[in-house]
Parts: sequence; structure tokens; C-alpha cells
Amino acid sequence: MFDEIVEFIKSLYPGQNPVPLHAPVFLGNEKKYLADCIDSTFVSYVGKYVTQFEEMTAQYTGAKYAIAMVNGTTALQIALQVAGVKPGDEVITQPLTFVATANAISHCGAIPVFVDVDIDTMGLSPQNLKDFLLKNYTIKSDGTYNRLTGKRLASIVPMHTFGFPCRIDDIVDIADAFNVPVVEDSAESLGSCYKNKHTGTFGIAGILSYNGNKTITTGGGGMIITDSEEFAKKAKHLSTTAKVSHSYDYVHDQVGYNYRMPNVNAAIGVAQMEKIEEYLLNKRGTSDIYREYFASKNIDFTSEMKETTANYWLNVIRLKDFNKRNTFLDVANENGVMTRPVWQLMDKLEMYKDCQASNLDNSKWLEERVVNIPSGVRIR
Ligand SMILES: *Cc1c(COP(=O)(O)O)cnc(C)c1O
Repeated sequence: MFDEIVEFIKSLYPGQNPVPLHAPVFLGNEKKYLADCIDSTFVSYVGKYVTQFEEMTAQYTGAKYAIAMVNGTTALQIALQVAGVKPGDEVITQPLTFVATANAISHCGAIPVFVDVDIDTMGLSPQNLKDFLLKNYTIKSDGTYNRLTGKRLASIVPMHTFGFPCRIDDIVDIADAFNVPVVEDSAESLGSCYKNKHTGTFGIAGILSYNGNKTITTGGGGMIITDSEEFAKKAKHLSTTAKVSHSYDYVHDQVGYNYRMPNVNAAIGVAQMEKIEEYLLNKRGTSDIYREYFASKNIDFTSEMKETTANYWLNVIRLKDFNKRNTFLDVANENGVMTRPVWQLMDKLEMYKDCQASNLDNSKWLEERVVNIPSGVRIR
């Protein structure tokens, strides 16, 4: 039966061998804007495309401010630092995520703490979060502290896995009750909404990624979105070498970073944003085809939850068990269809194996069953 599935997926992406998991498509003004950008000589951080890309992103997500970064990892690092994460602090996130989430926390000098996901959303579980906070943390006048480690909990970072929104409003409510800011890792969920509000706009800030395999790409790139003017100003300042505005002098008022997105990348981003609705509709069409097909094969296909809109960045099937998962991965990858298991859980990786964690049964359950199948825009 797995052979038949492989052939079916190939028929959706004719002429591609192997069929990639998610290849970028450039069907709009990318070359035109790139040529214009080069001709203008403004190829670096300053330029009209950066501003335009930020404005389009703010408009599209409904966030008041958008600040473009060199990639999603640095966007998350800066967002966490502006949210107040300091060396030695703890940051709660989910173990089922791409390594960039935990790395960005580490880049702040902070320590990740892993709390389990919900099986249905694959994102941070509000119930598990609440239980874990009640069991392990005490609210004091100057912050929320881990009773075991004595460390301060500086932020909570839920992730919208594969573009499926997690229960973000419940998570924000719980975080608020513990006086801890939420920074959303919405790197995978551009175009995904929870109750008609774009993911990444529920916490103090959210981040996006435009890596080559994401829904739209700038080659490499990231974005911080926020409704707070103060937050936006600080993020821009910190990522622009903390340079103080002056007509000619070099004044920097803290150790800053060189993390702003170059204009060449933003030129591609503007062209991609012009096509985002078309790409999302195309991807949704693919998910509809998959849903019907896998229903007929009695294979569990993941659909968006009630009151959410998923971007179907990466489509998800769940096989019956670990053996079936591996057999399918072998058959598909050997026969020209790229399929991937979910990431190894963060708490298994060498650098994060000693981090504190809740019971992680749901993440482990998903790890043994989830497979991503080709999901890129189909050109016919
Ligand atoms: C892609 C991604 C990022 C950011 O990745 P970059 O490659 O640095 O843009 C962060 N978190 C998650 C969950 C991601 O999937």
C-alpha cells in the first residue's frame, strides 16, 4: 500500500524527482525587484524593499509593527532579549520543535525548559503548562521563580507546529497569570490564524522565518511582529548594532547585533508577499486532495482544528506505530518522494539533554508516528 501512496504523491508533483518536501517557487516579480535593487546600489540594510516588506507583513498579519531580520533564529533571539530574557534565566518551550527554538533561547544565555504538547495541535499544551507552572514555580514581587533551580522564568515560547495553530489564547492567559511574557515562535505559521487573528500576534511579540523551505522565502530571512511601539523600537535598535541616530557620528549605546535583513533579500520578499494568497490557496487545495485520498486509505491525515486556519506549510500523516512510520519513510525516500519524521525531541539532543522537562508522553507519541509529506506549491 505504501508504494501506491508514493505513486499518488508523485502524480501530484509531475516532473519532480525526487519530489521535495517543500521547494520555493518564484512566479512573480522576484527578478524584476532584484534587478531594481541592484541597480539602486542599496543592497544592504537600508533600502525601500526592507521598509516595504515590513509594511506588507504588518498589514498582512495585522501586527502594528514588523522588523525584518537576517533569519528566524536571530529574530527569536532579539525578541526574547527585548522581552527581558537575560543570561541565567529560564524559558519554557515545547520539546517538539525545530532546534532553532531552543538555540535562540541558548543564544540569549538562557536555559530552555521543556513542557509537553497537545496531541491534536502538536503545539504547547495549556493544561500541561498550567500544571507544570503550579508544580514548579513561585510568583514573587520581582518575577516568577523555579523552586528547584532558583532561576527566573523569563518567557514562554509556544510554537505553531507545521503551521497548525496551538491553543494560543489559553497559553497567553496562563502566562499572564504568572506574569511571564509570551513570545510566539510562528516561524512555520505565516498565513495561519487562531480565531481569525494571525499567529504571532497574541503574545508580546511573534517571529516569522523566510528560510528556503518555508511558506514564502527571501533566501534567508526572519521578522519580528509586535503591537508594541516600544518593543519594535528596541528590536530595531538592538539588531542595528545599537546605533544611536546621528547624521554622521558612530554612537552605540549597548552591545548590539548586526541582524537586519538586507535589501536584496527583502526585494525577493516583496515579490513573494504579492503572491502569498495564491500560494496559500494552492497549498490548501493540496491538503484537500490529501485529506480525501488518505481517508480512502484509512490513514490519519491532520486537518486544521475548529476556529483555526492552518497554512498547511507541511502536511502531516500519522502512521499506526514506529515500525509503520519507518517502513513508510524507507519506501518513500527510496522511491523519489521526500518524506520526513518529526524532529528528534529537543530533550534528546546532546546540548539539551540535561534541561528540566515535564512528562513528555504526547511529544513521544507524536514522534513515533508523525510523517511530513511533500507540500510545496504545485505548478500545473
Ligand atoms: C524555521 C524555523 C525557525 C527559524 O529558522 P531560520 O532558518 O533561522 O529562519 C525557528 N523556529 C522554527 C520552529 C522553525 O521551523
